[in-house]
Order: sequence, then C-alpha cells, then structure tokens
Amino acid sequence: MQASDKSEVRNPQSFSSRLHACPGCERIALMSRLDICEECSSTVLAAARAVSFVVEKRDHPMEVCYTRTTRLRYYNVMIDRLELLLCYEKKGINVISPSASTLISSMQSKRSQHVLEDLTKILKEADAMSRTATTLRGRIGPAEDFLTKLAEDGELVGNPTEVASLRSQATQIIHRATLGHHLEKAKQVELNGNTKRALERYCQTLDYLRNNDVDDAVESKLIGQLERNIHRLGGTVPGAS
Ligand SMILES: [Zn+2]
Repeated sequence: MQASDKSEVRNPQSFSSRLHACPGCERIALMSRLDICEECSSTVLAAARAVSFVVEKRDHPMEVCYTRTTRLRYYNVMIDRLELLLCYEKKGINVISPSASTLISSMQSKRSQHVLEDLTKILKEADAMSRTATTLRGRIGPAEDFLTKLAEDGELVGNPTEVASLRSQATQIIHRATLGHHLEKAKQVELNGNTKRALERYCQTLDYLRNNDVDDAVESKLIGQLERNIHRLGGTVPGAS
C-alpha cells in the first residue's frame, strides 16, 4: 500500500470530501487547484498557453511578417482556441485575463480589418488588370476571381455595407471592361473597312448593354450612339420595329 492510500485509510472522509462535480465537465472527480477536474484543468491550461501571445498583447510573428493567407489562418486558429476557453468562461472558469470573450472580440476585429484590407488590395489589382490586359478574359478574369473570394471571405468582414460596396465595384469593373472591349473591337473592324463584321460587333455590344444588370436608362446615351452607328453602316437595329 502506498503512502497516500494509507492516509486515505486513516481519514476515510478526506478522499470523498475532495470529490465534487466538476464545473467544466460535470463529472464527479477530484478537484485540481483551479477547482475543476484534472482533465479539464490540463485542457484549459494548454489552451491558455496556446493563446499566450494574444493574452500578453505581444506581436506574434504570424501577425507581423507572414503572408496574408497565413495571417488569416493565424487569426482563425487563435479565435478557435479562445472559443474553447470561452466555453469554460461561460461556466465561471476564468484562467486568462483579459477574458476569452474580450480577446475574441479584439481578434475578430483585427481579422475583419485584415480581410477588408486584403480584399481592397485584390480589388485594386483587378481594376489595374482590367485596364492593361489585352484580352477580354484578362480584363475581367481578376474581377471575377475577386467576386469568388468575396463570397468566401466577405462574412469575416462583418460589415454588409462594406461588402456590398466591394461587390458593386467589382461588378462595375467587369461591366466597364466588357463594354470597352466590345466597343474597341467594333471600332477596329470598322476602321479596317469590314462593314459586315463591324455591324456584328455593334449589335453584340448593343445586346450586351440591353442584357447586362445595369439599368438601360443609365446607358441610354451609349445605346442611342450604338443604334446610330448601326444605322450609319446601313444595318438594322436588332429588336427595333
Ligand atoms: Zn472536468
């Protein structure tokens, strides 16, 4: 028999009096110094250690110098770890200060800011590409990719107005680039004296203007101009009576 067992025998009350329902997992167990069971205690302490960078407000290397994707992953992981501590906080078990809930809000706001900056930068690049690329795909591809990314990460921005504004800017880039591309091609073939092809191009552009998601009233001037071009080349405006 080991020494500790002997002491339990000498004082049969002491062992059972140290058994309690753990506030963390509700199992009856011996309480640790944190007044929770040993298992909860090691989970909580490991989680607390894992978020020590956040707690001590030191800049984690991830936050400072890694790539943007790595930084986003870092925020997600930290928030996950803090959420584990939040479960315990809700049961009255606090092992870190500031509290997990306070740190989660601060991490979430950092993450929002990071995602917003990231998206704004990508949109700016997509805009630049739309002005310099030579093919239609090259002009609108980056803006389309941006919309995919916005659909994935937009929720993390936490500001629907901001997200709607980014979406609208990307849509305008696609619209402007598509229209510019069609018009450029139409003018080019007209200059080359290919009337038949120019007519096709003008009709294509007109079709795009009528069917895109921009209100025709906004584009009425351009629609009128295209209709005049078609008439000038001796063509018939599609759909006109
Ligand atoms: Zn427990």
